[in-house]
Amino acid sequence: MSENRIYLDWNATAPIAPEAVNAFSHAARSWANPSSVHADGRAARGAFESARERLAANFGCDAAQIIFTSGGTEALGLALHGSGARRWLISAVEHGAVGAAVPDADIIPVDSEGRVRIDALERMLPESGRHALIAVMHANNETGVIQPIDEIVSIAHAHGARVLVDAVQTVGKLPFPSGDYVCVSAHKFGGPPGVGALVARCASELSAVLKGGGQERGLRGGTENLPGVAAMSAALDARMADTGWVERARALRGIMEQQLKAAGAEIYGENADRLPTTSMLRMPGVAATSQLIQFDLAGISVSSGSACSSGKVGRSQVLAAMGVDDVAAAEAIRVSLGWTTSATDIELFCTAWEKMARKAVEKTGGGQSEAA
Ligand code: PLP
Repeated sequence: MSENRIYLDWNATAPIAPEAVNAFSHAARSWANPSSVHADGRAARGAFESARERLAANFGCDAAQIIFTSGGTEALGLALHGSGARRWLISAVEHGAVGAAVPDADIIPVDSEGRVRIDALERMLPESGRHALIAVMHANNETGVIQPIDEIVSIAHAHGARVLVDAVQTVGKLPFPSGDYVCVSAHKFGGPPGVGALVARCASELSAVLKGGGQERGLRGGTENLPGVAAMSAALDARMADTGWVERARALRGIMEQQLKAAGAEIYGENADRLPTTSMLRMPGVAATSQLIQFDLAGISVSSGSACSSGKVGRSQVLAAMGVDDVAAAEAIRVSLGWTTSATDIELFCTAWEKMARKAVEKTGGGQSEAA
């Protein structure tokens, strides 16, 4: 992240925390394989397991329930394919990694605010839900809308089904969720990319997807990523110690949304419980692609929620599932805040947003959308 730019794309990735950099380089200097039996290997194992213990304390789970992976995508795949499920029910707003892993899944609809429709889930669940796995994210990466996880877990368990919760966007921001399987990714909370975990509260039912040398109690093969795991653990410790940052972000988002609504913005998922760091904003009459370019030129990094790995902007499946029409959805951008976001960042973003919206109104006389 360049110093003189305004970074408002924290849901895509967060800047690596200095504590994580220190932990990474310290662990990298230890330079031994945690599975080696010599003294260097045993020291590396000690460091690895103590990072696991620290993470478990922050997640509120047993250390033995943590299986380290290469990130959120792999953790999702491990639960979806290693849990023994034969039927998958996934919400319509899950991250693309879920649908791609289980293309035959049944889709649980959401309401116009993006919340899972509990009535539909109850109808979809078979009398005996054994072998059914329900995948619902804790909070959505585009809108920030939070799902009623406890309620979903209790309905699922009443039918004998299991629940997979994608907590990639909420770790370090909200209390760790319930669920039989919970996915975590370090780069969203100040750790490095390429490391994450699956918390398996029913690990005894899980089998490996990536088989190898028996690491992670046989549940995930591959040499342990000691520097990555140490950095992930240090990053989460730093976030948990910084108690005020989420409420600071909530206050800044509130100021931003109030100001931009007065200038004509629409906010998706506004009436739902939302992650305090996320806002999906529509600027009527201005295509998101055009907004992204203009913000970028003004030194501001934001994204459309639907940006895919190629950097192209596609149609947002999340907004479509909420019933937002194509024209409106194509005018929405995602603004996401983090622990270093300042009042000045938000002020400058709002000024740029208002200027762009004003220009669009002047150009069209308040009529046609560029995106139409
Ligand atoms: N789930 C959600 C909600 C995400 O936002 C992301 C990343 O954008 C992922 C899963 C994938 O995580 P990773 O990048 O660690 O594979």
